[in-house]
Amino acid sequence: MQRRAITVSGIVQGVGFRPFVFGLATRLQLTGFARNDARGVIIEVQGTPSALDEFLAALTREAPTLARIEAISSRVIPPQDGAGFEIRESDSGGHADVFISPDVATCGDCLRELFDPADRRYRYPFINCTNCGPRLTIVTGAPYDRASTTMASFTMCEECRVEYEDPLDRRFHAQPIACAICGPQLRLLDQNGELLESDDSLRGFAGAILSGQIGALKGLGGFHLVCDATNEHAVQRLRSRKHREEKPFAVMFRDVALAAAHCHITAAEEELLRSRAAPIVLLRPNESRGVADSVAPANPLLGVVLPYTPIHHLLVEAVNQVPLVMTSGNRSDEPIARENDEAVERLRGIADVFLVHDRPIHVRCDDSVTRIVAGQELPIRRSRGYAPLPINVPFTSPAPILAVGGQLKGTFALARQNHVFLSHHLGDLDHHQAYVAFESDIALYRELFQFDPAYIAHDLHPDYASTRYAQATGLPLIAVQHHHAHMASCMAENSVTEQVIGATFDGLGYGTDGGVWGGEFLVGDYTGFTRVAHLRYVGMPGGDQATREPWRMALAHLRDAGTGCAEFDSRIADTERRVVEQMLERRLNSPMSSSAGRLFDAVASLVGVRDRVSYEGQAAVELEWLATGRAECGSYPYEFCDASNREAQVIDTRPMIRAIVADVQKKTEQRTIARRFHSTLASMITEACQRISRERGIRSVVLSGGVFMNALLTREVLARLDTAELRVYRHRHVPSNDAGLSLGQAAIAAARLKDEPHRTIVI
Ligand code: ZN
Ligand code: ZN
Ligand code: FE
Repeated sequence: MQRRAITVSGIVQGVGFRPFVFGLATRLQLTGFARNDARGVIIEVQGTPSALDEFLAALTREAPTLARIEAISSRVIPPQDGAGFEIRESDSGGHADVFISPDVATCGDCLRELFDPADRRYRYPFINCTNCGPRLTIVTGAPYDRASTTMASFTMCEECRVEYEDPLDRRFHAQPIACAICGPQLRLLDQNGELLESDDSLRGFAGAILSGQIGALKGLGGFHLVCDATNEHAVQRLRSRKHREEKPFAVMFRDVALAAAHCHITAAEEELLRSRAAPIVLLRPNESRGVADSVAPANPLLGVVLPYTPIHHLLVEAVNQVPLVMTSGNRSDEPIARENDEAVERLRGIADVFLVHDRPIHVRCDDSVTRIVAGQELPIRRSRGYAPLPINVPFTSPAPILAVGGQLKGTFALARQNHVFLSHHLGDLDHHQAYVAFESDIALYRELFQFDPAYIAHDLHPDYASTRYAQATGLPLIAVQHHHAHMASCMAENSVTEQVIGATFDGLGYGTDGGVWGGEFLVGDYTGFTRVAHLRYVGMPGGDQATREPWRMALAHLRDAGTGCAEFDSRIADTERRVVEQMLERRLNSPMSSSAGRLFDAVASLVGVRDRVSYEGQAAVELEWLATGRAECGSYPYEFCDASNREAQVIDTRPMIRAIVADVQKKTEQRTIARRFHSTLASMITEACQRISRERGIRSVVLSGGVFMNALLTREVLARLDTAELRVYRHRHVPSNDAGLSLGQAAIAAARLKDEPHRTIVI
């Protein structure tokens, strides 16, 4: 007989781990106990050494679906008397510095019960268990138990309580446990928020959708607007009411089979669709295109999501499996609506009918969006289903660090030891409501993770709302350059520790010279970087306005290249053009920028794709779509200018602009120019990396920044760098855009603190 004390750490609480251990110990005829404490789950087991070995092996092999084991430690201790195995109550305060689970899509067991007429939760829209259901979105504080969720006001009925307290029940300590007797209920409201009497609210809602109306549905992390995706009128009405002229909508299909009737789905894509995070996956529609054209106008991809809550499952059944548009319940780019009254207020005039319920959403959490590119995941938005899972990083943070991210696509991160807990998507911090959520969700995460930051990492940009927040805390600050953070973000999620070449291409980021950077080649690691090359600086006439009006960037590049383009001139009013020309000449409100994103905008406008955009990055995205269907067809010239000593090398884009103008004048097809432009950038990035590699003896490259959301460019750069025999790292867990900044800031701050632990660092 031997006795072992085992500690299991990671996501092991609130996921059915102790009942699992109980079953395992019983099967192997071991005696002892399991209980939670602040480190995770503590187990003592006693039996033959071989049974104990088998127990240890099975702990990881057979762990419950939602568990994520980080470490298991085991030591031999003196045997004790005692029979049987028991689950012990947690020590007081035994709720762990551990982890909070993300929200989880309805599991197979719950789904079976949902449609089983004999089950007591038959058709109950809030069915869940230890393996599935709401988590992050209902948490109001720590520790994670019923009282600290938005289920606190629902008193469990006797039957639910028995399940909740039975260690062997699959709802043991499932905090959101509920049933039709004791749990939340659905209600149907009209467009003014008045209660509609209905014996079946869900079928009433489904009927409205089928008759072409627009519904607002309270989901897991916020409201969605819903309509029949096959009804062109309904989709167009939703578009005009939502003031969302072109941005694509996601579509919910009943199951993979139905989605596959509309889209090409690879095994990797199917795996993502079916995963318990249930993100929106971007797929390539097939010819049948069974959804209305205005769902994703001119877009070669369709965002597809499977039902992930019991309400969704009941709804897709009630609408006879017609595909449903599911888009965030907001106007244009505001944060998603969360509370019932707020939704009625904000969605008035958009929704004809509301399906609401009385389980409050505490944390606003948008759908995650992802896709597969070149055989690997390319995350676009990491939120519901992923947050607040930590990213494991290849270093140990010497102190707790809060990193507050950027301004657009805001996220924040908590770094502790070798974990960085990354928040859900907060949106654009320019929006007051997004900023309010940013503040309150930081406070919530601090409480949940019992996290008391000693340092705050932030972007160098003095005007970001996140920077101002950091400054107002009074904590020691660590300022991080924008593109360095992008680079470190990609390094951290790939566990890279060596010196790298960071090809960071994005819209805009504040440079150490006060310039607007965005087409950068950096060399360095977490502790520091050198800017070794960048795209040529061009004026951005009107600053932010140049982002909304790509024609301004086109004009700036034309003037910079000393050329003109009659086709371009003919589309832009003379007066407007002259004003912008004067701004450029006199350098009035025209900050100099090396932005690759703005270069995309300029080319999109020159080619005639788009002179003005209705959402950020639209011109670049449309240029990508245009080029995607075209085979490779050559590229344009560019030049590496010799760097004067100690200065970064400049990549001259003027030869390319002149060649594009020549192509436009020759009436070369738009898609050919778009394709050549992509190949040019790919070639430029590869050549720059090769030169830097030769000069500095560095063989690893990381690709980061929002421009690498471009799948065509990413594919082509990967292929070329591979041919050049450089080792390439790309984002797979965190978006390459500004949503990844907080992770990079945390990594850099941790590395700097390690170097100089006793100094407060403000650069
Ligand atoms: Zn379940
Ligand atoms: Zn109940
Ligand atoms: Fe950026």
